[in-house]
Amino acid sequence: MVHRCKGNYYIKVFGCQMSEHDSEILAGQLEELGYQPTEDQSKADIIMLVTCCVRETAENKVWGLLGRLRSLKQENPNLIIGVCGCLPQQKDMGNNIKRRFPHVDLIIGTHNIHELPRYITQLQETRETVLEVWSDSDAVVEEVPIKRAHGIKAWVTIMHGCNNFCTYCIVPYVRGREKSRRPENIVKEVKQLAEAGYKEVTLLGQNVNSYGKYLEPPVDFADLLVMLNDIPGLERIRFTSSHPRDFSDKLINVIAKYDKVCEHIHLPIQAGSSRILQKMNRGYTREQYLDLVKKIREKIPNCSITTDIMVGFPGETDEDFADTLDIVEKVKFDGAFTFVYNKRRGTPAAEMEEQVPEEIKTKRIEELISLQNKISIQKNRELEGKVEEVLVEGSSKKNSSRLGGRTRTNKLVIFNGSNELIGKIIPIKITAGLLTHLDGEFCG
Ligand code: SAM
Ligand code: SF4
Repeated sequence: MVHRCKGNYYIKVFGCQMSEHDSEILAGQLEELGYQPTEDQSKADIIMLVTCCVRETAENKVWGLLGRLRSLKQENPNLIIGVCGCLPQQKDMGNNIKRRFPHVDLIIGTHNIHELPRYITQLQETRETVLEVWSDSDAVVEEVPIKRAHGIKAWVTIMHGCNNFCTYCIVPYVRGREKSRRPENIVKEVKQLAEAGYKEVTLLGQNVNSYGKYLEPPVDFADLLVMLNDIPGLERIRFTSSHPRDFSDKLINVIAKYDKVCEHIHLPIQAGSSRILQKMNRGYTREQYLDLVKKIREKIPNCSITTDIMVGFPGETDEDFADTLDIVEKVKFDGAFTFVYNKRRGTPAAEMEEQVPEEIKTKRIEELISLQNKISIQKNRELEGKVEEVLVEGSSKKNSSRLGGRTRTNKLVIFNGSNELIGKIIPIKITAGLLTHLDGEFCG
């Protein structure tokens, strides 16, 4: 049911695709209530911050924005300010936010964002700050309204939480234990998306490779891909992230065989030294990672592989870091998200001795980025002269007079063309391989 316009909402997202998708769930609920989106904070009646606490920088950005919003609230006392997502989920953080930022009206955790309408009603009735952070929930909530940011590609959560407890990572503490959605609910959602004209879905989970572990009857991630591959109208299936420890041969065979499953694997390595990987509790060695990459490339020769890598984990020596550079050289990742290790309260690594000094971390990250940039350009140049299938997503963000789209291997391509091409899969000849994208020409 759509109500009369009640006002404007503004959502600011910090963090990963999970947070982006959470913001689509908030937007869906607010629009059902009758609110309209605005790009202008000062015109908003509701401002929601979807927060992240994986690294301190993301957390500090939230504190900065909350401070600035104080004056907006003074000008408009009816403005509702909400903080949700991972940040309030940390120990004592909800009360901390309430104390430090009394102008915040709603403080909601990761497990109960689907309860937003109820909290808004409660706030309007009581005029008291609503602080509702559930510690975890066994329920997998279905049928929540979602307002998708894009009309061609959509995120679909297939599982929540994480059971891996990598020693540096706060996610298992703020997103709770791993819970998979039932496959029939995922298939239903993707069918609805395909019927609505969506061409591509990206399946989201902290470790998609362990999808279905606790479901009855048993089902795994490879089975789910096979089910989704059958959906008429859907053209492309992507997924992220894959944990190297749980990557089965069956999954490699399914990616190789099923036409809609794209040849791109985001395979976070985190470090190149087996000693550090063990301290991180990653569950694989550098040799096992290299063997997995070899197997993937044998079965799926044109597969692109991207990764997450961290420098400066406690105890990382010059030799350990040299192993990281060495594995980056050996694998030749198509791209990498690089991170400086950051202490997260409550995680085992935060208590480890031998924390690496900041100046060493800075030197290492610069060296790593410079090596990876060289490799990314080299990989992109290898595509010059080739024709790639590109799903046209819309005007390019880099140059609005040109179009942008992605190859099956998830490389951004920018080219000239008319707007009628948007939503179509077209052949593009690659004319230049650059650091961040490919330049191309439509050759249809
Ligand atoms: N579940 C995914 C996986 O296992 O690869 C990653 C999720 S995490 C939100 C994204 C990335 O943030 C991680 O792959 C890791 O490289 C980085 N990260 C997590 N905790 C970190 C920390 N304490 N300091 C720096 N980077 C961190
Ligand atoms: Fe964090 Fe590891 Fe889980 Fe990824 S797999 S979310 S890095 S604990």
